[in-house]
Amino acid sequence: MDCCAHEGPGGGDARFDIKKVADGVYAAVASPAYKVNCNTAIIENADGVVVVDTHSKPSAAKEAYPAAYPDAEIVTNQITREAMLKKGLKRIQDHVRQVPGEIAKLKADIQAASPAQRGKLEAELRLAESYLGEVRALKPTLPTIAFEKTMKLYRRDREIHLLHLGRAHTEGDVFVYLPQEKVVITGDAMIGWTPYMGDGYPEDWAGTLDNLAQLDFTHIIMGHGDVTGREWLNTFRSYVHDMVEAVRHEAATGATLDEVKQRVTAKLAPRYEKPFSAYGDYRPWRTGVLANVERTFAMVS
Ligand SMILES: [Zn+2]
Repeated sequence: MDCCAHEGPGGGDARFDIKKVADGVYAAVASPAYKVNCNTAIIENADGVVVVDTHSKPSAAKEAYPAAYPDAEIVTNQITREAMLKKGLKRIQDHVRQVPGEIAKLKADIQAASPAQRGKLEAELRLAESYLGEVRALKPTLPTIAFEKTMKLYRRDREIHLLHLGRAHTEGDVFVYLPQEKVVITGDAMIGWTPYMGDGYPEDWAGTLDNLAQLDFTHIIMGHGDVTGREWLNTFRSYVHDMVEAVRHEAATGATLDEVKQRVTAKLAPRYEKPFSAYGDYRPWRTGVLANVERTFAMVS
């Protein structure tokens, strides 16, 4: 599944910083300057390796995993596997159908374009063609193991818990928890900037993070952004909670969506704009909060 609204060019120009989080536990932190890829966590075991979140783009994942591990098991929960079947495969088919039309339009636009516009359109055409090739060649691989609420992997020297704690970024968020190392891996239920809620459940989100907070850990590997700690969990959870409450409050007064957007942003900015701008202009909070308000407003009104 898309892990959020990733956009960006095709090709293998992803950049990652590998950070050691505990003995044999690493975070491959995708550079925030590059828009496409998610972070990945790597857990080494005596008898193999567990990779959490194998990136969001086919070009980042397709070569390495089957080549190195032809018998790799792909584990997720039942909800996510069903969502991949129902929504994910359809989304890929939609792209295969839609992109040729976009390519035809770009070619027509190039014919009609002034010399000044032409270079930019030609660059877009190359990206669209490369993306079409990538998505056409994509052979979706479904999970080989699915669990309901919880699954625990016991390795010789390590315990790995896979936990569904409620809905947040999707209907099937899975947290990976290493109790001995006190590390948790959150996917996009937590990120380093304003969350993407387009496929998410804003009203459930803070409660799911409260369930996460019950666990004993010190390090958090998020879907995007640097490895962090419990302080950011508190800030992130408070933002989601306060945003939803503010939208509920304004919606109950009969305010329009535009009024709610304006009022909620003004109310939350003093507390949240600065902490959610740790990555500078990348994914600005003021853009993210408007999308969050719109999704929440649609769900509460
Ligand atoms: Zn993501």
